[in-house]
Amino acid sequence: MIYLDNCSTTKTDDEVFVAMKPYLTYEYGNPSSKYYELAENAKAAVEASRVQISEFLNCRTDEIVFTSGASESNNFILKGIADYMFYEKNKGNNIITSKAEHKSILETCQWLSKRGFEVTYLDVNKYGEIDINDLFAAINKKTILVSLIWVNNETGSINPIHEVARICNDKKIFFHTDATQALGKVNINLKNTPIDFMSITAHKLYGPKGVGACFIKKTPLGIKQKLTPLIHGGSQEFGYRAGTHAVHNIVGFGKAIEIANLTFEENKKHMKELEQYFIKSLQNSGMNFFINGNINNKIYGVLNITIPKLNNELTIKKLSNDIAISSGSACALSEPSHVLSAMGIELSLIYNSFRVSFGKFTSRDVIDEFISKISIC
Ligand code: PLP
Repeated sequence: MIYLDNCSTTKTDDEVFVAMKPYLTYEYGNPSSKYYELAENAKAAVEASRVQISEFLNCRTDEIVFTSGASESNNFILKGIADYMFYEKNKGNNIITSKAEHKSILETCQWLSKRGFEVTYLDVNKYGEIDINDLFAAINKKTILVSLIWVNNETGSINPIHEVARICNDKKIFFHTDATQALGKVNINLKNTPIDFMSITAHKLYGPKGVGACFIKKTPLGIKQKLTPLIHGGSQEFGYRAGTHAVHNIVGFGKAIEIANLTFEENKKHMKELEQYFIKSLQNSGMNFFINGNINNKIYGVLNITIPKLNNELTIKKLSNDIAISSGSACALSEPSHVLSAMGIELSLIYNSFRVSFGKFTSRDVIDEFISKISIC
């Protein structure tokens, strides 16, 4: 299989699998149980993973809250802040986001707007980036939260997150970022950037599916930020998220982060080389194509390309025995991409657009095979 859909998910690293295995077999304790060895081992494993993640992000260990993935993290932060700020603190009801967010943000915002919250959707430019001036213009007295994607999952474009974080911090408005596609690809230093909340997931980073986390910043005095839980029940995860920990997944997430930390520069270099090789090879093939997004302000390893002669869904289906690519987000299959549409790309061309995303296991040979197959379509 020519796997070029790493923004959708990645192959679990062998080392990650090895680290997880004991917790699927003999280390089956529940970390919320007490005193006996199996429980204490499970607890230690969960906490070791929390340390690995917090060291990578440069934050406190008790600012990391495990969830089932980035969709849950996004739902939790948006609903949790909206509910707490409006119903408990009597603050405003305005949330600012953008038109190019992941569905787990957009659908949550739609749900909130049906319940009386007012959502402002910032436009994006032709590269998929928001404009800081639009953010300034949108902030009002009722704004309680700004939520913006760090790296776009369809184009790889990077939003000016450091600037946005500082503006929100100055204006004392909470700032959340969906960093799902940024994790392991851009430098994230939570001590230097005043982000209040952040969503991440393991499976885009060679970790297991079904586990993610939220970063929830504490005050400088170490006081816990209050927000309404999405899942009520036991007191796991500092009371933010009830439910027995998926210990094996949490261990896998920690290991994946540890590897990402050690291989950060090497991976970036590999992605850059593959991307440049891909563009050159596509140009040499003589095929007419163009890239959607800003080639100078994106992460390496994901390219959104329009090939005017090819319908995306038909081509992806036709090649599906050999090739894995997508027309956009895996969470919005069959709909024309709302991200490309927000970037002002004509609907007819959106139907000719493909997302190709590389990973650390991708080789030049795979790219050669892909280009030879797609050029005869
Ligand atoms: N946010 C972004 C930007 C994504 O790319 C994804 C994955 O598709 C998600 C959120 C959802 O992540 P998860 O699959 O962990 O729920």
